[in-house]
Amino acid sequence: MLTEIQSYKFNTVLFMSKGISLIIIISFFLVSQSCQSQEDMIKRNKVEEYVSGIETPKVESVSKGSVSNGSLINGVLFPFSGPNFQYFDTISYINNRAFLNSNILKSVLETYHVFEKIIPNRFFYLMECSNQHGGKMSPHRTHQNGLSVDFMMPLIKNNLPFYELDLLGKDHYLLTFDNDGRYSEDNSVEIDFDLIAHHLLVLNEKAKLYGYKISKVIIKIEFKDELFNSKYGQELKDSGIYIVKALSPLINSLHDEHYHVDFEKL
Ligand SMILES: [Zn+2]
Repeated sequence: MLTEIQSYKFNTVLFMSKGISLIIIISFFLVSQSCQSQEDMIKRNKVEEYVSGIETPKVESVSKGSVSNGSLINGVLFPFSGPNFQYFDTISYINNRAFLNSNILKSVLETYHVFEKIIPNRFFYLMECSNQHGGKMSPHRTHQNGLSVDFMMPLIKNNLPFYELDLLGKDHYLLTFDNDGRYSEDNSVEIDFDLIAHHLLVLNEKAKLYGYKISKVIIKIEFKDELFNSKYGQELKDSGIYIVKALSPLINSLHDEHYHVDFEKL
């Protein structure tokens, strides 16, 4: 049996070693946090520097040709972030891949503004758009005239918004989801189809205010059932927004973690 002194010493040593472990854990946490925030700061600076070098045209944009063979005149840069949205990748952004026709930009931003009011605290990520002057933007076949936008799938886990997969940058395009919209690595993470259907409806209405409409939505074909069975599914069906009916296996498999929207003039 331990004497009182031995027990006291034992407890002191135990307390000290726990204390040291705690200090090590806290230090490690602080160092990793500071590396992370340093990395974030570098990224922020790069974005700010890039944005300061981009001139915003004073006239409306002109989209020439088609989404798969076209160009963009007076394209405008999507803001890197706003109250409830963010562009998904710094490298993509500073490589001129976040330009849009000015009317589409206004439609996308006003849509986010609507959601800021109706679903406060819900955050959205926008993915690739077009080059500053349009034209081919590999690996996309479309995105050539400022009328195409990729939207990141909003996710939920246990019915709550889930954002842990949203900051992967370009690697986000590589994520895979099963035919029911569940993440392949963790099936408790699922696509929020209610929100996608609602987003498309508001987006189409906002585009109409600027003389445009959604001409095509590309989304994994197997998700159409989920989309039409969602809370806004019937309204989406009735809206006349065209959602692709068939896709090649490759294109189909590429549209499970984002949905692609093309616009056209009314
Ligand atoms: Zn796309």
